[in-house]
Amino acid sequence: MNGFEDFKLNKQLLDALGDLGYSEPTEIQEKAIPQALAGHDILGIAQTGTGKTAAYLLPVLMKIKYAQGKNPRALILAPTRELALQIFDNLKLLGKNCDLRYALAYGGIGPKTQIAELEKGIDILVATPGRMLELYSTGNLILKEIKILVLDEADKMMDMGFMPQIRKVLEIVPHKRQNLLLSATMHEKVVTLSEEFLEFPMRIEVTPQSSAAKTVSQRLYKVPNFKTKINLLAHFLEQLEAEEKLLIFVKSKANADNIFKFIDRKISKSVRVVHGNKGQNTRINSMNEFRDGSVHILVATDVAARGLDISMVTHVINFDVPVIYEDYVHRIGRTGRAGNTGEAITFANPAEAMHIEKIEKIIRVKIPVAEFPKTVKVEPTPYEEKQAMDKLIDLLRKKNDPEFKGAFHDKKHEQKTGAKKPKRTTNTKPYTNKKDGKAAPKVRMTVRGKKKK
Ligand code: AMP
Repeated sequence: MNGFEDFKLNKQLLDALGDLGYSEPTEIQEKAIPQALAGHDILGIAQTGTGKTAAYLLPVLMKIKYAQGKNPRALILAPTRELALQIFDNLKLLGKNCDLRYALAYGGIGPKTQIAELEKGIDILVATPGRMLELYSTGNLILKEIKILVLDEADKMMDMGFMPQIRKVLEIVPHKRQNLLLSATMHEKVVTLSEEFLEFPMRIEVTPQSSAAKTVSQRLYKVPNFKTKINLLAHFLEQLEAEEKLLIFVKSKANADNIFKFIDRKISKSVRVVHGNKGQNTRINSMNEFRDGSVHILVATDVAARGLDISMVTHVINFDVPVIYEDYVHRIGRTGRAGNTGEAITFANPAEAMHIEKIEKIIRVKIPVAEFPKTVKVEPTPYEEKQAMDKLIDLLRKKNDPEFKGAFHDKKHEQKTGAKKPKRTTNTKPYTNKKDGKAAPKVRMTVRGKKKK
């Protein structure tokens, strides 16, 4: 099948596609659009970067056709504000020639403007589940005319605990409707959801289950500690060409701030940071600057990066290994988009290396281990950091094998009291300065458990 003409889309949509420069449908679009146009429920397993948004938006726009009445006839739900915004942007671009009214609703800001939009009358609503239900319960949103319901990034919705809200939505929208469910991975909760939500769906999977994008080359560096990770990061940053774009993923807001400051002070001013504590506007501005290329390094936590529509990212560095394994797939899916190739580099300390084994099972690929660059300085591991990692390794081993008794197993105490000893308070977290939670990494040195003066 060649081009979008074969889908019998209307002229308004074909013109918009032409303006966007989309000449060929992507794999998910080729498979999903005809089925969705034929009225089938769809279960689409596709990562961000595959063109999944247009794969459902085009049929939605085709079916809703023209403005009518006051209440929305299509509802698109997304787990995060960022993703909702990105879908909305796509909707406005693809539907710019259609005589349709679109609205966007998400939490974190007052509902007034959103209510005013609904009041004017809309045809398609993009929303996060919480805010949508809020608008419904206050009587500002009427859902009885919904004909198409889309759940995007359903796996993330399940991870974020949205199942009760989704059940509520299913109760309040009309039974006779078309459902489109999109998920990057097909984990158990998504199967349960699809059973409740879809009727005889067409299952469309554009990549093998939970597999990483094929155009991304992956590399793993075994790094003994945080300081050495910083040295290795600096090494890659120095090699970054001006036209390249690097997305750095970290596990916590504190790490995100620390790494941002390090890069900003020592390496390049062309860097921004996004995480949950940053205001909505700051986040959007930072993302826009990264997207349009005015800055070329972005430090992000997983939640903040959900739904980022950023193309042409050439490198992803996982400074920390994600503990929600599916996030690995999402993270590296940021590069190698729309046919471009990309590189995903992961730093793993000894404790994180245990997570890598699990990730490899999910992606069904062994991530090649790269040789540590000789020019990068390997720092000694501070005692407390080593202890924290050993504890984590013990914990993970115990998780894998409940019979395993690790080095930190306090046998005597458990035998006497039947309870676990409370945690030692001297065991401070190695990476954050507790006072402000954002100062550069300070590790308290201890020798055999005693503080060094
Ligand atoms: P998505 O997976 O929906 O997040 O889309 C990933 C990126 O691919 C977005 O930047 C889209 O604008 C772009 N895209 C979607 N469909 C096509 C297409 N048929 N041709 C070229 N680019 C596309």
